[in-house]
Order: sequence, then C-alpha cells, then structure tokens
Amino acid sequence: MPQHPQAPEASRRRARAGVLVLGGGFAGATVTRRLGTTGATLVSSENALLFTPLLPEVASGSIEPRHVVVPLRQMCPNADLVLGEVSHVDTDRKVVVVSNEVGELIYSYDHLVIALGAVSRTLPIPGLAEHAIGFKTFYDAVYLRDHVLRELDLADNEQSPERAASHLSFVFVGAGYAGVEALAELHDLVQDALRDYPSLRSIPQRWLLVEAQDRILPAIPTHLGEYATELLTARGIEIHTNTRLDAVHLDRVELSDGQVVPAHTVVWSAGVAPHPLVTVMDLPTDRAGRIRVDATLRVEDQEGVWALGDIARVVNVATPGVNDPPTSQHAIRQGRHLARNLKHALDGEPLQPYGFRALGQVATLGRYRGIADVLGLRFSGMLGWLITRAYHVYAMPLLTRRIRVLADWTLSLFFRRDVVAYGGSELAPKLHDYEPPGIEELKAVRAPVIPEHSSATDEPSDGGARSDANDTTA
Ligand SMILES: Cc1cc2nc3c(=O)[nH]c(=O)nc-3n(C[C@H](O)[C@H](O)[C@H](O)COP(=O)(O)OP(=O)(O)OC[C@H]3O[C@@H](n4cnc5c(N)ncnc54)[C@H](O)[C@@H]3O)c2cc1C
Repeated sequence: MPQHPQAPEASRRRARAGVLVLGGGFAGATVTRRLGTTGATLVSSENALLFTPLLPEVASGSIEPRHVVVPLRQMCPNADLVLGEVSHVDTDRKVVVVSNEVGELIYSYDHLVIALGAVSRTLPIPGLAEHAIGFKTFYDAVYLRDHVLRELDLADNEQSPERAASHLSFVFVGAGYAGVEALAELHDLVQDALRDYPSLRSIPQRWLLVEAQDRILPAIPTHLGEYATELLTARGIEIHTNTRLDAVHLDRVELSDGQVVPAHTVVWSAGVAPHPLVTVMDLPTDRAGRIRVDATLRVEDQEGVWALGDIARVVNVATPGVNDPPTSQHAIRQGRHLARNLKHALDGEPLQPYGFRALGQVATLGRYRGIADVLGLRFSGMLGWLITRAYHVYAMPLLTRRIRVLADWTLSLFFRRDVVAYGGSELAPKLHDYEPPGIEELKAVRAPVIPEHSSATDEPSDGGARSDANDTTA
C-alpha cells in the first residue's frame, strides 16, 4: 500500500446515496452505471475500466492500448469517482479508508459493494516472481509487447545462433483463455515483425504452451479445444499438457517433463487469486479465499455488505451446485443484478436471487482464426473469429470505444502491423509485486485512526451529477 507521509489529517465523508462501490472493473462499474440517477461513490485505483478480453490484441498491436480502457467518468456519469487505493475496510464501523496523494479519505456508507477483482496467482516456483511476466493488467500487456520486440533486437545482435535462438523462444504457462490468446497474438506479432529482421529468418523459433492439466482451454467443449490444439500445433507451437513449470532462470526454463528450454521470455497466466485485501477484511471466505455471498449477492451474515466479480464466490440459482466462474460476462450480469437489488434494499423491497445462464464462450487464436460456443452452437475457424470479434464489440461498454476498436481492426486490414515499442513500461508493477510479501505488508498496515467526527462528517462527497455519457448502453 502506498504511504503518504505528508498526508494531512484524515477527513471523513459520506458516500453518495449511502452506496460505496470499491473497484471500477467490470463488476463495480456495471453496478454503479446501472444504479443510474440513484448515484453512488465509486472508488478505483484507475480512472478507467480495463476491457481485458482485448488485452491480447493490445500486446500484439492490433489495437491501440487506449482503446481498450473505458473512462469511468463517462461510463458512470451519476457517480462520484474517487481515484485512490482502498487501504482499510471496517465493516463494524461502516467506514472505508482510501489513500491517495490528497491523504487518507474516510468514507462512511450504508451499503458497501466490494468488487476489487483478482490478482495474478503466483506459486512458490523458483525464479517465477523474479523472471516471469504476468498477463493481467494493462501494463502487463504493454510491457510484454515491449519485451518481445526487444528480444528480436537482442537476437539480431547476437553472434551465436544458439544464443539468438534463445531470444526467439517464448514460454507461456497456463492454457486458459488469457494464455492461449496471448500466445496466438504474440506469435502473429513476431511473424509480422520478423519481416524487418532478415538475418533472423534462418534462426529457429520455439513457442511453448505449458499446461498442468491434460488439455488446453479446459473451460470450453472438447472438440473446440481439439481444434485449437491442432491449429496451434500446425503453426509450430509445442503444447505440453500434464506438465508444470519447475524453475525459471534469466536465460532458461525448467519443465517437469525434464526439458530445459533456453529462453528469456516466460509469460505466466496460470490463474488468479482474490484481491489480497480480502485477507484483512474479516469477512467469510471460501477455500480459494473468495468472499462468500448468498444468492442475493449479499455477503453472508453481513448487513449492507455486498460482493461480486472475481473477488467473490457467487452462487447462481440458474446453475445449481456450480458457482460462477471468474469471467467478465458473469461480472457484468452480477453487476446488473446487484444494482437492482441495491435499489430494492434502498426502497425497502424484497431482494431477488441472482440467476444467469452464460451465453457461451469465445476466443481468438490469432488473426482470422477463433472458436465460439454460443447458445449451444459451436463455430471455429474464420467464422469463430468473426463471432468472437462481434461479441467483444457488443460487450464493450461505450459506443465511442466500440467505434475506436472497429477502426483499429479495419485499419489493420490495410496496413502492416505497428511494431513500435513504447518504452518505459519496465516501471510498471510486475509479477513479484503480487507475491506473499505484499499480503504480509497488508496485514502489517497500521489501521488508521478514524475520527468519529470531523468538520466534513457525513457530508456528501461531491457536487451534482456530471454531464451525460455519450452512450447509454451497459
Ligand atoms: C488477459 C485476460 C483476458 C481475459 N479475457 C476474458 C474474456 O475473453 N472473457 C471473459 O469473460 N473474461 C475474461 N477475462 C476475465 C475478466 O477480466 C474478469 O473476470 C473480470 O475482469 C472480473 O471483473 P471484476 O470487476 O471482478 O474485476 P476487475 O475487472 O479486475 O476490476 C477490479 C477493479 O478494482 C480496482 N482495484 C483493485 N485494487 C484496488 C484498490 N486497492 N483500491 C481501489 N481500486 C482497486 C482495479 O483497478 C479494477 O478497476 C480475462 C482476464 C484477463 C486477465
């Protein structure tokens, strides 16, 4: 947690309409947007929602990075947006402390919505935190792109073909959607970029997809997974199922099947863990550390505390015995439902149980290839790719963002892929920032002294509603 030694004394404010939403991702932003003119105070560390399904295309340069982030002030025009890090949650006293450069802001609330999402889940694998690259955040995608392009230049500088080959070896660990899509997109980027590196054309490349389970894309129907396996294998990608990452070094990777792969790039997308603040919130959690909520999305045994999205274990009455998976599709549906239940709670009306059947699953496998399982119908190849793109555009929250993404895709049909590296992205948070020491730090954070009264006590935090968003979809 950032420390602000010169922070002025804490001031206390009241959340708009008594509703305080923590996290401006799919879940939190959807709840806030759907509350409409009821209003809420939305706390987020970023001023925009990151549209993660298109993150692999940011890494490969098919889409301009700014176009996959949706400004929260436009998406939630009736909310007060507070930019800062949630640093302390006290559900007994119904207050939350937010830290930013202004100081420690203390918000009181009647209803607290916890939607802080998840972080990359790391494992105690030697060298993982130091050398692997996560694939979860905006900065991860920009950093990965810069790193891969730099590897091409380093390979070009090497005198020895073996050492050059190690710069053209890329290991992706975790064969869920994020890992497979990232690998396919980065593979396309490198093939396009190599046109500018004639001396590297004779150097062999290696692309490895490492998965501990017995198949890739375990969440999709088997035959689409088989199609993906065949397609990637035909492109020369080595798929290692039933294999674990054993160790990562600066210049090589050790796998559980005994292989040692000379490589400088390891991308880790082997799952997520709930946001570490959960560990200090004193709320009921499941074995995976997710906050337990009842069918109305209210935290078990807590009045006025709600949780949803990747941070929560969400019971879905439409899929008895199967909790919601951590996807944006579910986070959005939960958000819409919770907004309705919050309105019911504010009006003293009965709450409704949450139930949603997923429409299906989609994934791209690089340019012009994809897989889609929609309402029981299964598509692969070019059609699967088109359906995946159409779904992503449909799911994008603001019309202006949809148009920008469509424009990027259209331009990419006529121009060569942009291979400019941004530079400076090495300053962004890395995988090791999510390591256990972060959690220990959190536990050690001193609970701030929360004044019972102050001059600003229980005043609304901000003025009137802002101008309308340029779109009304959600
Ligand atoms: C690369 C990638 C690709 C994906 N592709 C798909 C896909 O194709 N389809 C799909 O359905 N799902 C996909 N997902 C999963 C999807 O992104 C998540 O399920 C979804 O983001 C969960 O929504 P959320 O609101 O719970 O969390 P998030 O969207 O992660 O939002 C959490 C918010 O909390 C904020 N926050 C965190 N900590 C603090 C703090 N201390 N103080 C203040 N604010 C804080 C963050 O800034 C963020 O705005 C993908 C995920 C990744 C990483």
